[in-house]
Amino acid sequence: MDIVHLLKKNNSITDYIIIGQGIAGSVLSLSLIKAGFSVIVINDASLSSSSKVAGGIWNPIVFKRLTKSWLADDLIPELIDFYEYWEKEFNTTLIHKRHIIKPFTEEQEKNLWLKKANDTEAKNQFLDVSSYENLSIDPNYQVRSYSKVLQAGNLDVAHFLECTKAYLTNLNSYYEELVDYQKIELSAEEIKYQSHIAKQLIFCEGYLISKNPYFNWIPMKPAKGETLTIKSSHISLTRDIFNKGFFIMPLGNQLFKIGATYEWENLDDVPTKKAKDELITKLNSIITSPYEIISHDAGVRPSVIDRRPVIGRHPDYKHMLLFNGLGTKAVMIAPYFAKNLISHFQTNEPIEHEVNLERFYKSK
Ligand SMILES: Cc1cc2nc3c(=O)[nH]c(=O)nc-3n(C[C@H](O)[C@H](O)[C@H](O)COP(=O)(O)OP(=O)(O)OC[C@H]3O[C@@H](n4cnc5c(N)ncnc54)[C@H](O)[C@@H]3O)c2cc1C
Repeated sequence: MDIVHLLKKNNSITDYIIIGQGIAGSVLSLSLIKAGFSVIVINDASLSSSSKVAGGIWNPIVFKRLTKSWLADDLIPELIDFYEYWEKEFNTTLIHKRHIIKPFTEEQEKNLWLKKANDTEAKNQFLDVSSYENLSIDPNYQVRSYSKVLQAGNLDVAHFLECTKAYLTNLNSYYEELVDYQKIELSAEEIKYQSHIAKQLIFCEGYLISKNPYFNWIPMKPAKGETLTIKSSHISLTRDIFNKGFFIMPLGNQLFKIGATYEWENLDDVPTKKAKDELITKLNSIITSPYEIISHDAGVRPSVIDRRPVIGRHPDYKHMLLFNGLGTKAVMIAPYFAKNLISHFQTNEPIEHEVNLERFYKSK
């Protein structure tokens, strides 16, 4: 019996109820299903969702220091395996492998790249310092000298969320509704929400965790971000992502995503003139040919004060868990830590120390 029929048949007690179907809830529910568990996902799509505006980029390099980003060696293969597996299952394209083009403003910057790339101890396979020259981005803008970040790319987040929702709906596992925390019933054996009974419940609500009475004590530091989508027949980037303190990412059909801003006050998903002006100023420093703004979007990144994910069990209610804090790097982080959490369920493998919710138990 295949996985779909098995899950459709057994609809009494579910293994996991997942609240939220952003990148976190989607990656986790699919990983659980692949591992043979049954899931129910409850999501209110009318609420704020960072995933809906995300650029979906994964980048294994921290530009400030030119070092590998946290756990890049482990996260990159895991994300490729995960999204490629679901590309096959959904019979579609979800990810685009790309390079990130980083132009040099000064000779000094180029020398720093060379130094970092040749540092044999750091073994940084993601830095490519071959001397690339004369890349035309716009009729009036040529990059004279640049390097590339390798093994980067982006997930088509909107498409991934749509495919996941359709897949879950086909399993009778998706419920579109606002979860009322007061209606969650806990007992020693199980957890009940409305007509759903499960062994465990996992919250994946992004920055809206602040409204969750069970977990509103987690020290989050959410960051609002905004992007523009523009249309231009003049920008000559076709595959790679351009980054010069902001990014230009080709989406196809002459569309480009421009991002992103950071703002730690006024946390809502309302696009602002301030952020739009900031992005336009940066864009106009490169692109002088005409373009049209197609959309302007805002969302709030669920970042934690120590900039690590937050995953694990509630200190008092062991059937209640959290998979959150994916911050600026959800696409890259989610598959690896979904796997870690599932190993914890299956074989009691510890949840990795750096991301474990236990580190905040004393804040409760
Ligand atoms: C401008 C911008 C650009 C970004 N670019 C990138 C990028 O290039 N690469 C990258 O990896 N990350 C990027 N991010 C970060 C990324 O978007 C987030 O880390 C990620 O989307 C978080 O996913 P999540 O599932 O935890 O939260 P969310 O996407 O916010 O999803 C939470 C879900 O829970 C649901 N929910 C919440 N409460 C309830 C409730 N009570 N009842 C029912 N449903 C509920 C919401 O409706 C929502 O669907 C960007 C973010 C922003 C804002």
